[in-house]
Amino acid sequence: MAPAIEDPHPAEQVELGFGLVDEDTYADVVDSHVHRVYTDGSKIEGRVGAALSVWKGEAETKAIKLALPPYCTVYQAELLALKRAVDIACKSGAAKVGVLSDSRSALQAVTLSSPHPLAVQTRAALRKAALQRREVSLFWIKAHAGLKGNERADELAKEAALGLRDTISEWDRRYDVGGTAGVTKLFFPSAAAAYKVVRKIDITHHTTQVLTGHGGFAFYLNRFKLKDNPSCLCQPGVEETVPHLLLECPIFAKNRYAIEQKLGMAMTGENLPSALGDKCRDAFLQYCRNIVVVVNQRNSV
Ligand SMILES: [Zn+2]
Repeated sequence: MAPAIEDPHPAEQVELGFGLVDEDTYADVVDSHVHRVYTDGSKIEGRVGAALSVWKGEAETKAIKLALPPYCTVYQAELLALKRAVDIACKSGAAKVGVLSDSRSALQAVTLSSPHPLAVQTRAALRKAALQRREVSLFWIKAHAGLKGNERADELAKEAALGLRDTISEWDRRYDVGGTAGVTKLFFPSAAAAYKVVRKIDITHHTTQVLTGHGGFAFYLNRFKLKDNPSCLCQPGVEETVPHLLLECPIFAKNRYAIEQKLGMAMTGENLPSALGDKCRDAFLQYCRNIVVVVNQRNSV
């Protein structure tokens, strides 16, 4: 059976290509394209997500997260995001829209006549836009270059993959309400500091537990009446909290000694923000994860 939409005869095809956006050309492209859609795909812990971040001028106007079945590839996620972005661009009513993806392979699939159904559909949408005299331009945006819209799409795609909703607004809320940020404030002295680091972390349910204190810890479970006793296994009356586990609990003294040697710093409350710095972060989060796995396990019985 023939696919529902086929590429037209070569003579009828519009010429397709994409421009490059990097640190040098970013400002120009933003200036010349008030309406922009950034796309990204992501695969974390076997889960796949795609995302779109729609911008007008300097502000994001819409964020869309799509969760894909786990057997999908990042390439499929990137293609899906690109297709949706072109659809949005066509329906937006704007005469000129830039669609920016950091996936060169997805852009090539669309522009170099790949038979992939999503690529075929995207080309069809682009042709339709051209017929309506709308200018929908594709750009390959350099990844990991700190370019705002791309960073945002990347973050959304990760959230989509992990099914975490609005992680960043959640951090904001924690700081807004003041005083209740508790554990989070130990790690990040300000919401700005949180943004900076959280962007660089693969947010898993283990790291979220550590950074928020909300998780399978006796103190937290007890607060919600999910456990009779808030105490740690090491000593009755000592609350099993994240700071206790990471900084004091004798049960994890060996792990703590090892990480202190490795990072060259003592595990104290004051040092937690530094432990999340670029040099220490990976090893420190591994230390946290190892503890959380053990604690979750013993509290799940
Ligand atoms: Zn303990």
